[in-house]
Amino acid sequence: MTENKKQKGTADVWETFSPGETYRIGEMTGRQARPGQVYCLDGDLGVGKTVFAQGFAAGLGIAEPVSSPTFTILQQYEEGALPLYHFDVYRIGSVEEMDEVGYEDFFYGDGVCLIEWSRMIEEILPEDVVKVQIEKDPDRDFDYRRITIL
Ligand code: ADP
Ligand code: MG
Repeated sequence: MTENKKQKGTADVWETFSPGETYRIGEMTGRQARPGQVYCLDGDLGVGKTVFAQGFAAGLGIAEPVSSPTFTILQQYEEGALPLYHFDVYRIGSVEEMDEVGYEDFFYGDGVCLIEWSRMIEEILPEDVVKVQIEKDPDRDFDYRRITIL
């Protein structure tokens, strides 16, 4: 993996060439997570958001396997250094479904939130979030990903 910090102001830009490398970027990010942080994870279907989330969970010391909570919106993990609230809002019909899970307790609590497809609930996101954008590049290798963290 390579890092290029100069591309976008203060953003960290990583390039990965395998799922394992994306996992390790997630792991490193998870190790640095602090209570109350909200990480917004965006990028197309199959780009590697869940791979990143799995690494992130491992970085928090969560041994339990992490999968995409696509059918439940929220999966909670309490065994790590900090509680992890893993949202996947891809299939959400309206933000009222977020009210039903009581999202404010998680967004403004002392754990860490990781939200796959955060752009689908833009109107209720806190102002202060960490944005993680994962992209493919049609001109690069099939397994190439660019990860921008800001
Ligand atoms: P998402 O959650 O964004 O829909 P997933 O993480 O479930 O995507 O799946 C990503 C897929 O892309 C996996 O099948 C993974 O093996 C593959 N892949 C290939 N190269 C990479 C890479 N560099 N980083 C992450 N995933 C990759
Ligand atoms: Mg996913």
